[in-house]
Formats: sequence, structure tokens, C-alpha cells
Amino acid sequence: MAPTGHIGIALAARNLESRLPLWAWIVLPFLTDIEYGIFAAAGLESQASCPWSHSLAGCVALALIAYGAFYLARRDRRIALVAGALTLSHWLEDFFVWSNLSFAPGFEPNLGLGFYDRIGFSMGNAGANLPTLFATAFEFALLASGIAVMRLTRKRESQG
Ligand SMILES: [Zn+2]
Repeated sequence: MAPTGHIGIALAARNLESRLPLWAWIVLPFLTDIEYGIFAAAGLESQASCPWSHSLAGCVALALIAYGAFYLARRDRRIALVAGALTLSHWLEDFFVWSNLSFAPGFEPNLGLGFYDRIGFSMGNAGANLPTLFATAFEFALLASGIAVMRLTRKRESQG
């Protein structure tokens, strides 16, 4: 999934913990892809194989780092827990759309429900075609829904 979808899903939960700054709600959900970008630039991963950034174990490790960093910075378990959950949400959402995730580096890349495979979309064929249009529409629908839920829940809060 692209940052659009990850951020959209996260923003829907935004008002569960208003002490966590907005930038964290935007950056943490796609921290795994930022990590992937760094690993890919270093030649460690590619679109065909990303067992470090996109394995379940890799994402749990990154979520624990986020938890630790936010706990050290804010000394608040709830804020740290939400930061960790936001980071881990990336894998759960990718699990829904992809089918080539692995349990840990060295394991067979065979996890995932593959929603994008079903509609015929892959990073390899992304371009001016119908599957890309569907996938993009799906991601922007998630973003729009997330922002809508965020605004609705905020309004309800301020009304008491
Ligand atoms: Zn990803």
C-alpha cells in the first residue's frame, strides 16, 4: 500500500490519543516504507525481495523501536503504545493488499491476502492501466474516509 492508504487508516484513529502530534500520525504508519527506501538505496532490498523492512518480525522490531523512542521522549506508556501500534499497522495493511510478505528474513515470502493481486495490480505493472486506477482510487478513498472520521470524532469531542 502507498503512504496515502496507510495515513488514511491511521488518521481515522487520530482522536484516540490527541497528545501524540499529527506528524507522528502521518510518518509512523509508513515508517516501514521509509526503512525500505533506505535499505533499497543501500542495495539490501528490492521490490522483489524486502524481507528486512516488510517481514512481520522486521515490522514488530521497528514498532518496538518506535515504542521505545516515544517512551523515552514522553515517559508515557499510552503515547508509546499508540506510536508502536501506528508503526505496526503498516504490516497489517500490507498483509491485506500484498501476498509476498514473510514471517522473518529467511522465511518463504508467502504471507498476505493479496487484494491488489486480485485486482491485477502490482508495483511492477503500476502505470496508466485499470488496476493502477482501482488501486489509486482505493487508497484515496481510505485517505478521504480517514480524514472524514478524524473530523467527525473531533467535532463530537468538542461538543462534549
Ligand atoms: Zn509497505
